[in-house]
Amino acid sequence: MNTISENVMIVREMIAGAARASGRAPEDITLVAAAKQNPAERVREAIAAGVDAVGENRAQEMTEKLRAGAYDGAPLHFIGRLQTNKVRYVVGACALIESADSLKLLEEIGKRAVSLGITQEILLEVNIGREPGKSGVLPENLEETLEKAASTRGIFTRGLMSVPPVSAQNNGNSRFFDDMMKLFVDIQGKKYDNVDMRFLSMGMSDSFREAILSGANMVRVGGAIFGARTYA
Ligand SMILES: *Cc1c(COP(=O)(O)O)cnc(C)c1O
Repeated sequence: MNTISENVMIVREMIAGAARASGRAPEDITLVAAAKQNPAERVREAIAAGVDAVGENRAQEMTEKLRAGAYDGAPLHFIGRLQTNKVRYVVGACALIESADSLKLLEEIGKRAVSLGITQEILLEVNIGREPGKSGVLPENLEETLEKAASTRGIFTRGLMSVPPVSAQNNGNSRFFDDMMKLFVDIQGKKYDNVDMRFLSMGMSDSFREAILSGANMVRVGGAIFGARTYA
């Protein structure tokens, strides 16, 4: 079995290849280590190996690991479903909330940010596969959500995020990644206050190459860095 540091090197090489194949430089792609279920020690190893950021899914796990100093030296991203009653643990603690996906949540994030006297950077999560029960804004509601984000004090929108349907086939996700890229470019062409479409976050361990080829510039990689998770 590889060490975390070896895995990060392998992932970086694959990222570099995909970046060049799509006419970009390796350093144009932000590598977020998805650290769920990994203890602070292993997260620190990934940071030492040079990942650009660390992503967490659960507010409670994140808060515990934050106290243990797990994220020292790297920006922290929230990438999981965020309940409004957990907003206070995440706003200000994270450089980027990647999973903002409802008007209510935007309102709560904004309120909390204003009360802390900060601006919280977010991505809007899109349910591009239109899967029932999955988090993310449906594509037809994105414009309304974006307008809400643009007009909510305390929030600055930095891009879009998506977790497309799991695909059994090779390249099976490309259609969804392409659809996300279209939305991303479309919004880049419009003018909103407090919105700078800089990041398109999509692609995980089994799909980050495809995602980058479709235009992603931020990937969230868990298993390929930390090894397979064992689900309780
Ligand atoms: C766990 C997770 C990832 C990484 O998944 P892997 O398949 O382990 O690479 C990416 N994004 C989100 C939102 C996750 O929860």
